[in-house]
Amino acid sequence: MADKRDYYEVLGVSRTATDDEIKKAYRQLAKKYHPDTNPGDKTAEAKFKEASEAYAVLSDADKRRQYDQFGHAAFEGGGAGAGGFDFSGMDMGDIFGDIFGDLFGSRSRRSNNGPMQGANLRTSVRITFEEAVFGTEKELELTLKDDCATCHGTGAKPGTSADTCHKCGGKGQVVYTQQSLFGMVRNVQTCPDCKGTGKIIREKCSDCYGTGYVSSRKKIKVSIPAGIDNGQSVRIRGKGEPGTNGGPRGDLLVDVDVSRHPIFQRQDYDIFSTAPISYATAVLGGDVKISTVDGDVIYTVKPGTQTDTKVRLREKGIPSLRNKAIRGDHYVTLVVQVPTNLNSEQKELLRKFDDAMNGRSRNENEPEKEKGKKKFWK
Ligand SMILES: [Zn+2]
Ligand SMILES: [Zn+2]
Repeated sequence: MADKRDYYEVLGVSRTATDDEIKKAYRQLAKKYHPDTNPGDKTAEAKFKEASEAYAVLSDADKRRQYDQFGHAAFEGGGAGAGGFDFSGMDMGDIFGDIFGDLFGSRSRRSNNGPMQGANLRTSVRITFEEAVFGTEKELELTLKDDCATCHGTGAKPGTSADTCHKCGGKGQVVYTQQSLFGMVRNVQTCPDCKGTGKIIREKCSDCYGTGYVSSRKKIKVSIPAGIDNGQSVRIRGKGEPGTNGGPRGDLLVDVDVSRHPIFQRQDYDIFSTAPISYATAVLGGDVKISTVDGDVIYTVKPGTQTDTKVRLREKGIPSLRNKAIRGDHYVTLVVQVPTNLNSEQKELLRKFDDAMNGRSRNENEPEKEKGKKKFWK
């Protein structure tokens, strides 16, 4: 076909592109033009087909070599006439498994018949700031499934056994051949009759109604390590859903929500807070009481401390999750308090202080010189 675009051009890669580059380029195009994301859009569909075709050739070392040597002519033999690329001989499942495995999820082709680990469960727990700092133990109550004791998880009435599924012959999956965008495509799907177990239960266990498991409320202790941060989670192995066909249980994931603290803020393993100091202490120096997660500490400030001075309290921060002997620091911002609601004696002392700072002496009987300024002092 004369108007067929060059495969490298279609994918937007150079002729010397590596396999990874080709794969990456195709992934991007496939994601953009995939029919699932562009329903009914014929242009997108054509672009998707074009990119898939280019990828099918360039991702295969032999086909790529032929294409490099002969161009599109390499695949137009046999007088097929239409000149279109023949996908029927290719296993598109491989391409989809490879490319879409994590993109569209549903196309994964794992076997359902072997031992399979149970699904993970997710729950959450709320803890205080201090509990996050020092670690804690919480008891969660949740509904867990267990293998039915009556039928030992088979779902079949005791004394009977499950039959092999006729539809899939016990394999748990069936193969469909379908006409698709690309021609005939082989599709492997979970068997609809046995839901992938490969077995059909004729007489159901009456205790579990044939499901093979029973649900009950369970209390589970979760140990939350010191240093955990908001949004992190704790994994408890083997407390998820039961496995199938002898597979292990899944895990329970506990998301941790840490409540905000009224004065402490956290960043990584450091704590930040502010502490008030009086004007006199800031000027003269002295001891200040500062709250930390270990309790109050006395910090001696230097004379002449300015407001917004930052102080570091070493190792008063949060313990490292990996090693709780290693702790972050606590940074305190000292905020000098401006006194309010002074009585007349305090005001007078402050005026005298201010005069002394300005090199004046003050006489209460001679206020006339100060008249102009008085309004500021009232
Ligand atoms: Zn049962
Ligand atoms: Zn089946």
